[in-house]
Amino acid sequence: MSNTQNTICAIASPAGSGAIAVIRLSGPNSFAIVQSIFKSKTQQIIQNQKSHSILFGEIVYNKSVIDEVLISIFKNPHSYTGEDAIEISCHGSIYVQQKILEILIKKGAQLAQAGEFTQRAFLNGKMDLAQAEGVADLIASESEAMHKISIQQLKGGFSSALNLLRKQMLDFSALIELELDFSEEDVEFANRTDLQKLINKLNSEIKKLINSFSYGNAIKNGIPIAIVGRPNAGKSTLLNTLLNEERAIVSEIAGTTRDTIEELLSIKGFQFRFIDTAGLRTTTDQIEKIGVERTLEKINKSSIYLYLFDINQLSPFELLKDLKQLNQEIPRIIIANKTDLIGNDKILEFQKLDIDILFISAKNQDSLEELKTYLLNFVNSKTNNSDIIISNIRHFEALTKANEAIERVNNGIKNNLPTDLLAMDMRDAVHFIGEITGEISNNELLGHIFKNFCIGK
Ligand code: GDP
Repeated sequence: MSNTQNTICAIASPAGSGAIAVIRLSGPNSFAIVQSIFKSKTQQIIQNQKSHSILFGEIVYNKSVIDEVLISIFKNPHSYTGEDAIEISCHGSIYVQQKILEILIKKGAQLAQAGEFTQRAFLNGKMDLAQAEGVADLIASESEAMHKISIQQLKGGFSSALNLLRKQMLDFSALIELELDFSEEDVEFANRTDLQKLINKLNSEIKKLINSFSYGNAIKNGIPIAIVGRPNAGKSTLLNTLLNEERAIVSEIAGTTRDTIEELLSIKGFQFRFIDTAGLRTTTDQIEKIGVERTLEKINKSSIYLYLFDINQLSPFELLKDLKQLNQEIPRIIIANKTDLIGNDKILEFQKLDIDILFISAKNQDSLEELKTYLLNFVNSKTNNSDIIISNIRHFEALTKANEAIERVNNGIKNNLPTDLLAMDMRDAVHFIGEITGEISNNELLGHIFKNFCIGK
């Protein structure tokens, strides 16, 4: 756990050289340490400045000027960490950055651990744990969708939903704990129907959050999509065309894509993780066989999958037969490929089937925009703007445990269990919600969370 008596420092900008770099300090000696090496023309005293002011000057050490810098001054509690803090904006040379850091350490600052600034912000009550995790997710976010989730978490949207849940749980406890005080007298203060209503509400709200995880997780890591179909259907060609680069091996020989290939593609701010697979052909060839098994496995791991077929190779009857063999629970898009080689009558034949088919030519890039629209519609159907989406497995696990406790209370009410047992289970539920926001935390948990942050954040 961070020792907040120390003053910590770190380079906060990315490794390497850029136009400007930022070095950050936080802790009780931040001002004194920087003052000892900072000279402004007008001899400004850092301690006397207002919070959030900026000074221009030089970093001077052993009488030599290291750099011209700007320092931003933040006075406790009005800083990110809640402590006295300074950000030094220097020139981005790696030498200058390292030199300034080295001098700060010589002057008594300690090199910050990964995530230590944010950990201090948490310890000083500037944010709760879920918000702190939102910071890490925001830094790591690579897509518009992930940005949306993490900024909501950082701004406390998820935390206020949790606080509301917690309040409802405490209301429930208050109702039944009153009975506990009078347990000798065998009275029932709380109306069982009201309790049941409260529990049902809690249950459905927590479940909604839990269910959002599969989507949130997909957004975080890219929405997994398997591309499946018989060998030579054009799966690799489609993937390549979508990616606009020759990543997969395209070949005329059936069954060449033996291993699976994964590629990330961003479509209008959503990351999709495309999984190209070996063909779906039944075969005795050992390696190919593994590929086929893997295909079915990959479908099971997908949020949505593309079934691609060569419209010249398959009859409508064979298509239906193929489709029956594949998982029908997971959403899929059925795509007829190589339409550049056929006439309209062939398309009509397939249109007569009672299924939605997208007709494309991967080679000529025909109708690929439609495919992208299908995919976006799929993602958008999964969420609406105001929904809170959880993307963190720790939150998912804690919510699952809280929900198990709620289910126990639920069964308890139904089976007329003694009030003290209901109260105990409800306390468990409150505990697990508290673990998410950090009201309940321990050093091990904090260490685990903050070690995944970058140094300087
Ligand atoms: P996979 O085995 O399903 O991955 O199929 P490939 O992507 O390797 O494609 C097999 C063959 O079909 C290659 O020769 C491709 O050039 C060709 N092909 C793929 N898509 C199209 C298409 O839309 N039109 C035409 N004419 N050929 C295609």
